[in-house]
Amino acid sequence: MSAVASRRAFLTGRLPREDDSVKRPPGAARENFHDLCTRCGDCVSVCPEDVLAMDDAGLPVFQPQQGGCTFCGGCADACKTDALSLDRFAEWPWRAKVSDTCLSANGVSCRVCQDSCDQGAIRFRLKTGGRAEVNLDLASCVGCGACSAACPIGAVSLERYQPATVEVRE
Ligand code: SF4
Ligand code: SF4
Ligand code: SF4
Repeated sequence: MSAVASRRAFLTGRLPREDDSVKRPPGAARENFHDLCTRCGDCVSVCPEDVLAMDDAGLPVFQPQQGGCTFCGGCADACKTDALSLDRFAEWPWRAKVSDTCLSANGVSCRVCQDSCDQGAIRFRLKTGGRAEVNLDLASCVGCGACSAACPIGAVSLERYQPATVEVRE
């Protein structure tokens, strides 16, 4: 942050928010995670799926490329502060997104992501020329990341999900 931006943040009391692309463990406090986390690493140690790691700042991050989260709650149980809480597991904001480098979309048969998804959230829509396009059901996707880990070319990422807002008429 520049000196001017830093001074403005200080004067307005608005400190910079964490980069929205950083994936903290499930149940992470949204606003004050940096303050609450003691950097003990207990959540990383207990994760049975080995999908958590410490980042350069010494804070835990979810790494979907390592495997899927089962939402077992072990990390939140191990956390001695309110940095992680089971009460916030339902706020998990991530959902799968398939890039246009997908093998099937380019005419190479592959269904690895579909096979890895226990939620049945991935279907394929057949196209011309032997291609098939992923049809992701966002209502079924829980953002576990298993498909991301399974994709042989890294074409699946987890992105922050913004549900469409519904306009309510008075
Ligand atoms: S919920 Fe379970 S599988 Fe997921 S990150 Fe926490 S400890 Fe690991
Ligand atoms: S267990 Fe809690 S306090 Fe310890 S590193 Fe994980 S989130 Fe931070
Ligand atoms: S992230 Fe979504 S689409 Fe991918 S395996 Fe998990 S539930 Fe299925």
